[in-house]
This record gives sequence, structure tokens and C-alpha cells, in this order.
Amino acid sequence: MTSSSTSSARFPRISNHGVPTRCWCGEGITTFGSSTAENRYRRFYKCQIARDRKTKNHLFKWLDDALIDEIRIVDAKHERVAQEITKFEEMVMEKVKSEIVRVEAEMSEKLKEKVNLEIARVSQEMKHKLKITTVALVVVG
Ligand SMILES: [Zn+2]
Repeated sequence: MTSSSTSSARFPRISNHGVPTRCWCGEGITTFGSSTAENRYRRFYKCQIARDRKTKNHLFKWLDDALIDEIRIVDAKHERVAQEITKFEEMVMEKVKSEIVRVEAEMSEKLKEKVNLEIARVSQEMKHKLKITTVALVVVG
């Protein structure tokens, strides 16, 4: 990483994170193969202007370094998304739980009403049957 710490006042600062898409000079980025002995055929990013003029005030980044950077960026994004999903799941579970409590309370209330109505109906029916039995006993007796 020779140029990552280079900062020029002439060029606006363009992010050097991950795979670069544009040079600090505004020019698009191209990949080239290194011809030096220690990095022979190793691919790198550079703009055409830098390539032609051999100046140092342009972005330079090894392709393999850029890809590793990019993987780290994607990993970080993935981690953030996973955390968001967990938060969302917790929120949904919270809502579901409170809805269950509400529905249970409502059901309990309706059940109580039905039970009371049924008790009243059965009680009425029993009284009626008791009356018939009493009348029958009186008639027989
Ligand atoms: Zn450039």
C-alpha cells in the first residue's frame, strides 16, 4: 500500500476502501499487471493518466488487497444486517406476545360471559323441570 496515505490538496479525497472505482483525479480506474520482479503479473488498480505520466499523485491499489478490503466491507455490512434482523425479530416477538395477552384477555372475558349465560340457561331449565315435577307429584299425590 504505497499510496493509501498519500493526500494531495489538488485532488478531492475519494474513498480508497474496497475496490476503487475512481482515481483521486476523477479519472476512471483500470487494472494493470505489474512488471516488477517482486510483483510480476500481480494486478493493480490505477487510472490511465497515472499510467501514462508515471506520477505518484494518483490512486494505486493492488487488486488482491482491494478484494480483501471489499470482503471485509461486505462482512461488516452483513454483520449490521444480521443485527438489524435480530432487532426486528425481537420487536415482532414483543408485538406477538402483547397481542397474545390481549387476545387471551378478550377470550377469557367472552368465555366468562358464555359460561354465565349457560349457567343462567341451565338454572332456568332446572327450575322449569322442577316445577313440572312438583306439578306431577301434586297431581299423582
Ligand atoms: Zn488519477
